[in-house]
Amino acid sequence: MLEDAIKLALTKSISLYETIARINRTVKYAPKIFGVVTTYKCTQSCSNCCLYCDPEDNTKISDDVLNAYIEFAAKSAGTVLGITGGEPMLFPDQVFGAVSRAKELGLYVCLTASFFGYSNPEISENMRTLKDLGIDLLRISISESHRNAFRRRDIPYHDYIAGVLESATRNHIPVRVRIIQEDDNRRRVKKIAENILFDRLNIEGIQKIPRKTATGRKNRTRVKVEVSPTILLGRARNVRRKSGSEIADYECPQMRSLHSHINVYPDGNATRCLGTERNADIGCGNAYSMSFGEIVKNLSRTPLYDARFPDRMRVAHEIMQREFPTLLPVDGPGSSCEICSPMLSHSEVKERLRTEELFAGCF
Ligand code: SF4
Ligand code: SF4
Repeated sequence: MLEDAIKLALTKSISLYETIARINRTVKYAPKIFGVVTTYKCTQSCSNCCLYCDPEDNTKISDDVLNAYIEFAAKSAGTVLGITGGEPMLFPDQVFGAVSRAKELGLYVCLTASFFGYSNPEISENMRTLKDLGIDLLRISISESHRNAFRRRDIPYHDYIAGVLESATRNHIPVRVRIIQEDDNRRRVKKIAENILFDRLNIEGIQKIPRKTATGRKNRTRVKVEVSPTILLGRARNVRRKSGSEIADYECPQMRSLHSHINVYPDGNATRCLGTERNADIGCGNAYSMSFGEIVKNLSRTPLYDARFPDRMRVAHEIMQREFPTLLPVDGPGSSCEICSPMLSHSEVKERLRTEELFAGCF
């Protein structure tokens, strides 16, 4: 792969920066950060959910596969277990079991959950249990679509999220709050976040919503606040964007970190990034029928993520515009993920791309 990148640099007239970026992307795949989507069940059904999570969907990863994953992470010198969903806390025993085992094995454990569906006393009890098990970080999102879903059910969203954050910090669990910003709701989501973080919680050390990230404290516990622009995936792909534009640059935004990530889904599929959608079987094996060692070997062999990734994205975009236009956002994608995600997740797109030389052996 390194050889490929150097050849490309010599044969094409590309900049030094681009050459270094291409070589960087050929770094050997050796995952350190082990993400797991434990369930597709959620109390919400957000339009921008790339996993199409839904209250009616009870799909969850099996305890056996989850345990095997954690053991594999520890054996292969993994450092982080990231648990997410859906709403993983709808199956609290599974989360507690995973946190407990991962901590025994020395992993840093981060849980992304909103505790949707719980009363305040139940949230406190769950938080205490997580703290006792040794959880390292809680990640939680603030978003307008969550607020709207709460409104429809007459539940006070601001109080709810403030309650979760208060409870986590009272138990001295560090928190990372993601403020989910969409193209057309920056101001509104900023107001929601300001109300929760400053008016209700009075986070010390941060005066206003940061441009990117800022760190403050609550109950003598770290609260990191980060603003995160969303991309149109999942159900939202056909939502009209206000300021849609063609992608000028098809670089994968996460390409430099993809050599250290692996994510496993409730249906057993594995990918290197979490931008992919539900059922993202990229042909590297399934955890219900194969060991994680074999899956990682296969993921490391796929040429999908090598130096020619931007070229593949260009071809995929042309083909999808012509043949699968409904899989792209109406006004054109604003992020490379909006092409890559359906390309990885839809079998009919993969079938078609397989006929292109550029995709030989990719999935
Ligand atoms: S985006 Fe989050 S809260 Fe919304 S349905 Fe998906 S998992 Fe649930
Ligand atoms: S979906 Fe594709 S483009 Fe987006 S982060 Fe993942 S690999 Fe990169």
